[in-house]
Amino acid sequence: MSKRLLVCGAGAAGLTAAIFAAEQGAEVLVLERTKQAGKKILMSGGTRCNVLPVKATLADYHTASSPNILKKIFKTWSVSACKRWFTDELRLRLACEEESNKWFPVSNSAKEVRDLLLTRALDAGVKVRYESAVEGITPLDTGWQVKLTTGEVFSGDAVIIATGGLSVPTIGTDGMGHRFLKPHGHLTGPVYPALTPLLGTNAAHKALSGLSLNVRMRVMHGDKCLFEANRTGFLFTHRGYSGPAVLDVSHFYREEFAKKSELSRENLRYEVSWDDADHETWRTRLEGKGGVTVNGVLRQYLPNRLTEVLCAEAATDSRQNPGERKAAELSREERKRLLKLLTACELPVNGDEGYRKAEVTGGGVPLEEINPATMESRLHPGLYLCGEIMDVFGRIGGFNFYWAWVSGRLAGMKAAEGRAD
Ligand SMILES: Cc1cc2nc3c(=O)[nH]c(=O)nc-3n(C[C@H](O)[C@H](O)[C@H](O)COP(=O)(O)OP(=O)(O)OC[C@H]3O[C@@H](n4cnc5c(N)ncnc54)[C@H](O)[C@@H]3O)c2cc1C
Repeated sequence: MSKRLLVCGAGAAGLTAAIFAAEQGAEVLVLERTKQAGKKILMSGGTRCNVLPVKATLADYHTASSPNILKKIFKTWSVSACKRWFTDELRLRLACEEESNKWFPVSNSAKEVRDLLLTRALDAGVKVRYESAVEGITPLDTGWQVKLTTGEVFSGDAVIIATGGLSVPTIGTDGMGHRFLKPHGHLTGPVYPALTPLLGTNAAHKALSGLSLNVRMRVMHGDKCLFEANRTGFLFTHRGYSGPAVLDVSHFYREEFAKKSELSRENLRYEVSWDDADHETWRTRLEGKGGVTVNGVLRQYLPNRLTEVLCAEAATDSRQNPGERKAAELSREERKRLLKLLTACELPVNGDEGYRKAEVTGGGVPLEEINPATMESRLHPGLYLCGEIMDVFGRIGGFNFYWAWVSGRLAGMKAAEGRAD
């Protein structure tokens, strides 16, 4: 007899789970809180949807759980096999953005991705109920019962929780799934916004709002470099800093992450080199152009607006702008300050944009609490979990959807099979 499955949430993970479960012969009902499926898919990648990375390693992900468990789950569906499913089965034409190693639809349409997933689910017999917010789940003698906020109840042999995280709460992902899962003992640790813009205190930097460039970003803890990325996109905003270089490291600033990782915020520094050159190279560049002003030298490598701000910051006396003089005319202190600003400019961060602008949620259900061969809860048989609700997030570049597709597929397939015993 076919299994009856209830899937909570019609996002990336929930739709994938539903497709694979239905294609295994299960009777699947998806309960979606909002009026449409895959709202986050629609807004992803600036509405272009970065479907997948070209390749993924464990280093591209953050989890406080065991990396070995994560590895086991990723092994169930490689990036290339997942990509083949999109191209060969869903008939989504993908193009690789060479400079960033990301796969996007040739159409550049996130809607195409969402529509293909939804159509595939409906074709496989999946039923989707919109405006059906789940407020509670209860284990039965056999199977699970799901209760909606309207009071309606549904029962099934198993339930798959794919309600996502808390990022962008205005579109239906405000942690409602976390709230109804918590009483079942699965969400005891902290959660926090990740991949979110940082706020800054430097007024001159705010005046550079809109300026973007590729930088080298470092996260320092005392003398130790915790993270370094080269040539990644950085954007000055009117409130601070954004772009992949910043989003990828925003979680370090979060108390919840710092505590878990035994870091102290006081020792944390974000340092930026504005181009590839190191200290020595900048020194040579400045000294090599004897007749040119400092501004003139910097402008050969950096945007004019940034050059002006850096030169003004390097000044030891506000009446004397080092940019208007030749390098040889700079005082020892001015030269030192300028070289530091060029190669290890400290961002004066004092907060982040939180869940309002976060692309994902950090923390969640620990991987130790599920069976990595099935995504079934180790605490409650017949309860499956997938996607952003789990304690896994990746950096910018299609890594988060890859997690949603992999974990969703595994949960759907295994929930449809049921328990071996
Ligand atoms: C602006 C933005 C851009 C992004 N771009 C990319 C990108 O290009 N590439 C990438 O890899 N990742 C991207 N991400 C991250 C990616 O969107 C998420 O990692 C992914 O959507 C998580 O999938 P999910 O299915 O777990 O959760 P979601 O996609 O959030 O789906 C959860 C679903 O559950 C529903 N739901 C919630 N609570 C309930 C409830 N109580 N009852 C019923 N339904 C409920 C929600 O309405 C939603 O439909 C982006 C995120 C944002 C915010």
